[in-house]
Amino acid sequence: MPKQLITYEHYQESEWNTFLPDEADPVKGAQDIIQTAYESYGDSLVYACSFGAESMVLIDLISKVKPNAKLVFLDTDLHFQETYDLIDRVKEKYPSLQIEMKRPELTLEEQSEQHGSALWRRNPDQCCYIRKIKPLEDVLNGATAWISGLRREQSPSRANTQFFNKDNRFKSVKVCPLIYWTHDDVWNYIKSNDLPYNPLHDQNYPSIGCIPCTNPVEQGGDERAGRWANFKKTECGLHTT
Ligand code: SF4
Repeated sequence: MPKQLITYEHYQESEWNTFLPDEADPVKGAQDIIQTAYESYGDSLVYACSFGAESMVLIDLISKVKPNAKLVFLDTDLHFQETYDLIDRVKEKYPSLQIEMKRPELTLEEQSEQHGSALWRRNPDQCCYIRKIKPLEDVLNGATAWISGLRREQSPSRANTQFFNKDNRFKSVKVCPLIYWTHDDVWNYIKSNDLPYNPLHDQNYPSIGCIPCTNPVEQGGDERAGRWANFKKTECGLHTT
């Protein structure tokens, strides 16, 4: 496993993804990736945290490697109260973590004035750009790498995700320690370690984002079926080029 700092400009997928942790031991694999990422990128590594189920796993694993790690939550002003409450619980459990609540330049009122009300109903891509993508661009300006909780089994668009990805969208390296984790792996880790999590997960919300764009999913349904349910859109744009 290479330990030297690798940057977006010098990214060589063939070099950085030859080390594949044992798929039968996803916890150890993720810990190895997290350790290597912090050894390589240090304080230049940012975790863009959604506070979903995968986030609870990553927060716990990261806190063991880098107790004062920098986390960023893209606060669109449109999240469920349960999500904000969960963030408070995480701050209590992991007081050393640095959690930044990154908000868009436009308030909801300003967005309505400039683009019309309920932009998410007419043009969710533009709404996501204003409230999520541009803020993350600002956060990652100067950061060498960022961490994401993507898992390969979540959707076909995520099936080829590597541990270290050349991220052309944000001109950085995207580190994804959980690519081999299954849904059951995530929840076994949460339960066995008694981690906090969003109570909406127990009310048929497997994937939780902004209130207007998140619906519950039928038991056994696709994990991401409740996101932007009335559109062809399946990703907010953070993970597409
Ligand atoms: Fe807007 Fe919906 Fe995207 Fe949230 S998820 S930023 S409400 S379009």
